[in-house]
Amino acid sequence: MKTTSSPFEHLETRAVHAGMRGIRESGGHVPAIDLSTTNPLPSVELGGLSYEELAGGGDLGDDRSAVYQRLWQPGVARFEEALAELEGAESSVAFASGMAALAATLIAARGAGRPHVVAVRPLYGGTDHVLATGLLGTEVTWAEPHEVGAAIRPDTGLVVVETPANPTLELVDLGLLAEQAGEVPLLVDNTFATPVLQRPIEHGARLVLHSATKYLGGHGDVMGGVVAGDREWVERLRRVRALTGGLLHPFAAYLLHRGLRTLPLRVRAQQQTAQLLAERLEGHPALTAVHYPGLPGGDPQGLIGRQQSGGGSIIALELAGGFGAAARFTESCELVTHAVSLGGVDSLVQHPASLTHRPVAGEAKPAAGIVRLSIGLEHVDDLTADLERALDLAALETELAEASGREAQLSGSRAAS
Ligand code: PLP
Repeated sequence: MKTTSSPFEHLETRAVHAGMRGIRESGGHVPAIDLSTTNPLPSVELGGLSYEELAGGGDLGDDRSAVYQRLWQPGVARFEEALAELEGAESSVAFASGMAALAATLIAARGAGRPHVVAVRPLYGGTDHVLATGLLGTEVTWAEPHEVGAAIRPDTGLVVVETPANPTLELVDLGLLAEQAGEVPLLVDNTFATPVLQRPIEHGARLVLHSATKYLGGHGDVMGGVVAGDREWVERLRRVRALTGGLLHPFAAYLLHRGLRTLPLRVRAQQQTAQLLAERLEGHPALTAVHYPGLPGGDPQGLIGRQQSGGGSIIALELAGGFGAAARFTESCELVTHAVSLGGVDSLVQHPASLTHRPVAGEAKPAAGIVRLSIGLEHVDDLTADLERALDLAALETELAEASGREAQLSGSRAAS
């Protein structure tokens, strides 16, 4: 695939300078935020031609007008160019949220007469739900990674996977999936890894999706979604966006583009803290497992190093005391905020079975004892202290619950005798 070219070899330099073309020449230093919803038309004829090209998914031509914000927007186009460059893709198309990006992709696959999707669980709860319900007219077959090839049918339009998986962080071998997918586009949700740690197109993916709300924005103050891929698919998705209107606001595009500039620094620093935390928390008596790909045994297929550089900064903890302990732990964190979402500069904790994965069918729902941590940029010692204190309280909760269970059993057997 011909990718968006960059004169710079290193990702850090690309992240800072991508999508900034022409700004210095125009006397500026950062992109201007253009809020115009409509744009002057050079003539009736050129106005019509511009409309036709943009509504068809094309780019803004030199002597053309952007026409209308739903068709094309300069700040959004800058963010799209930058993200494509980081992912090593030909192009990208941005949306109002990660779910809007997924919806457009499903609509495009269905619109091309291929409504069948093969998907590998676990996935983000919203993705799982929209596929399981067939809300957008698609039909899903759930498959284990090695079963994907067998699940493909003549009307399969997409193979969908997320790696690291949400919330339990299994890594999936993308090369293995791409080989089985063959001509069917492989869509990889790269939200957790970001292009800093993993570039799925290098491993055979055709489409890469992000909830840009997470690491790309990185500060918990902007929603967005983006799909990177080849020009043909991006044009198809732009057509869907122009007709369904799930577009990114210019201010959101500005914030996301700015977020990309510090992405490599943030992701690597957050990952370093997560690795240390996972090592420190492993073995705590309140836990039966710490799910983190960077721990020994956390990456049985050896994908770290050849597909993903490092374990990332999401950790899933499995509490011995099940739901009660997980709830106590989550509610006892003080420095770490109890909130959904992830990928920001401040650490968050949430209970997937109750929240992000609430709509997922029983057999695929995360266990009740699992909590998900998104590690931010706080000092590792402060985070350790907060999490260990909350784990101690969760352990106490479990002991009390067990003691009262024993008590109840004892009084039950006394009453019976
Ligand atoms: N993909 C992943 C991995 C997510 O975690 C989320 C949201 O949490 C989404 C997609 C959906 O993105 P958004 O919330 O921006 O619509």
